[in-house]
Amino acid sequence: MYYYASSLTRLIELFARLPGIGPKSAQRLAFHILSLSREQVEDFAQALLEVKNNIVTCPICCNLTDISPCRICGDENRDPSVICVVEDAQDVIAIEKTREYKGQYHVLQGSISPMEGKGPDELRIKELLQRLAQGEVTEVILATNPDVEGETTALYIAKLLKPLGIKVTRIAHGLPVGGDLEYADTATLSRSLLGRREMG
Ligand SMILES: [Zn+2]
Repeated sequence: MYYYASSLTRLIELFARLPGIGPKSAQRLAFHILSLSREQVEDFAQALLEVKNNIVTCPICCNLTDISPCRICGDENRDPSVICVVEDAQDVIAIEKTREYKGQYHVLQGSISPMEGKGPDELRIKELLQRLAQGEVTEVILATNPDVEGETTALYIAKLLKPLGIKVTRIAHGLPVGGDLEYADTATLSRSLLGRREMG
């Protein structure tokens, strides 16, 4: 990419680092930015900074939020006796879209992945245990992804919670194996949530 001005090369490289963006798309996006008005580019740059400055981690559920605690943790109409454990913030959005779930969430911020050198200590499991120690929760739904990392994470947490005597359930199959929760269609996710089974 040495035939571009260095600032353009840099922008292409930054786009190419984003998930799902290959070199060709990165190039297309960079040229698109170049074609925008100065005002549009400033809006875009401002939005990038604002999202980073205003979004924090909820001190209760570890979800991303612009208010603390987040809207779900702060909502008195939500059932405080059920916690649905998910891998990331996008999974919360996917489950909220089903309108089937009225409990609380806990966002692990990832999954156990030996391949990526990510162990349980890097997840927000400690925060989950602290919430459960308060004694209000009667069911934990493990809604990690239906892939190897997600299953490993679910098994790890189920084993950890077993001595606590809290009901631990796993979302039912029907979700595409190896897939990502956030890409499941709403009806499938809804069925999977309603059909959850207790883990042995
Ligand atoms: Zn929260």
